[in-house]
Amino acid sequence: MNCLEFRRLKLAEPRGLPHDALTHMSECAACRGFAADINENEERLASALAVPVPEGLAERIILRRKSGSATRFSPRLWAMAAALLLTFTFGFQQWKDAGSQEYAKLAIQHVMHEPESFTTARLADPQLFRTVMQNFGGELQGSLGKVRYMKLCPVPEGTGWHIVFETERGELATLILIPAKRMTSEREQATVGGWTALARPGGQGYYAVITSSPDTLDKVDELVRQRVRWRS
Ligand SMILES: [Zn+2]
Ligand SMILES: [Zn+2]
Repeated sequence: MNCLEFRRLKLAEPRGLPHDALTHMSECAACRGFAADINENEERLASALAVPVPEGLAERIILRRKSGSATRFSPRLWAMAAALLLTFTFGFQQWKDAGSQEYAKLAIQHVMHEPESFTTARLADPQLFRTVMQNFGGELQGSLGKVRYMKLCPVPEGTGWHIVFETERGELATLILIPAKRMTSEREQATVGGWTALARPGGQGYYAVITSSPDTLDKVDELVRQRVRWRS
């Protein structure tokens, strides 16, 4: 098991790690730190919401509202949950020394490992998207399109939001918000396996736009630059 697999598992099943994950954790200090942060955040969120410690991560609390199976949460609690989720910070040692172009390339690799993001509807909620953007430091000045998929994913510096939306022209685009790490360059572009990505500094760190064609990338990049105002 590698660190990325461990982090995915820990996010999905914080309290039910399989044996090989526990073995990895006992051998890897970085992942022990990650696990401790997740546990701590879970407890903080649980006490903030004054409910019993939930089995999953905060994201599941948000999900639960979607499925309508349990409690409804007010917009304030939504905002709080989204803010807590973005406060995770922990180093991801092996990517620390990533050189130029790595930001965009890593974003493409992330998308390639999550093909279901294009075929699944998940947290497709414009209000939640607005809240997540706001917490990340981006004010939406207009619509980017129809949000189809949102997921909290392991990213180089911790945990970030992975968003798929459909533009007004019907093109699919991915936006990944990565907190904590500051890009030194204005932009980084990469093309891998038919995917093309552009990373730019913004909000609490940087963001990457990933599309399946360079032409669409230019249009979506333009759209994001027009319609999102980044606070810094
Ligand atoms: Zn590890
Ligand atoms: Zn993802």
